[in-house]
Amino acid sequence: MDTGALLVILGKQGAGKGTQCVMLSRYYAIPHISSGDMLRSNVRQKTPLGLKAKQAMDAGELIPDEIVTEMIKARLLQDSALSTGFILDGFPRTALQAEALDEFISPNKLDAVINLDVPQATVIKRLASRRVCQDCQAVYSTSMPPKINWTCDVCGGEVVQRDDDTESSIIRRLELYDKETYPLIDYYTNANLLKNINGVGSTDAVLRRSIKAIDTALKLRYK
Ligand code: ADP
Repeated sequence: MDTGALLVILGKQGAGKGTQCVMLSRYYAIPHISSGDMLRSNVRQKTPLGLKAKQAMDAGELIPDEIVTEMIKARLLQDSALSTGFILDGFPRTALQAEALDEFISPNKLDAVINLDVPQATVIKRLASRRVCQDCQAVYSTSMPPKINWTCDVCGGEVVQRDDDTESSIIRRLELYDKETYPLIDYYTNANLLKNINGVGSTDAVLRRSIKAIDTALKLRYK
């Protein structure tokens, strides 16, 4: 294979994209590139981008296309992610971002777009109880907390509720998902890249479904 797998994951907030991406990135030995994690790291470090983005993020609004697109483009060009491969999480999120992505990875093409499908009622429940490690972004919940006192099992960081996991921000993010991101399902179906994966079940069961779909897509490279 000339380059590593070039993958995108779509799915509502709380569908389990982050958890699946960590496992898929290990399995395929490709970096997990999360626009949300990159933005949150900018917020924590109080960079000019972070200072500009914080308010919109807390309210559940999207950051302007040009800003996020530039951030991801720079990340993909750095460390030659285009040859090592990648799994993109949280980007693209609008039609303009999807078109920009096709353009800046050209002449490469995505191998597959995973659409993690989870019912709305389930994601709302998951988001309200979600807790994340501030340092390594490992995901926990109030029903599955870290072993010791909200200290991350993986890295020892503090496990907290995300600033945008409030009721009003969750409602707004899901609304924007339907309006801005859902149309990408058609976009990638038309490009013959979409893999619908049932996101309900154990993380391992969901992972197996995704790997099967991705492996089938990767075989097409040889045809
Ligand atoms: P979620 O999917 O749970 O909303 P993310 O971590 O993917 O969380 O994103 C958090 C926030 O970061 C979004 O609500 C938005 O403000 C901003 N953001 C992340 N990715 C993008 C993007 N591709 N385009 C615009 N805004 C983005």
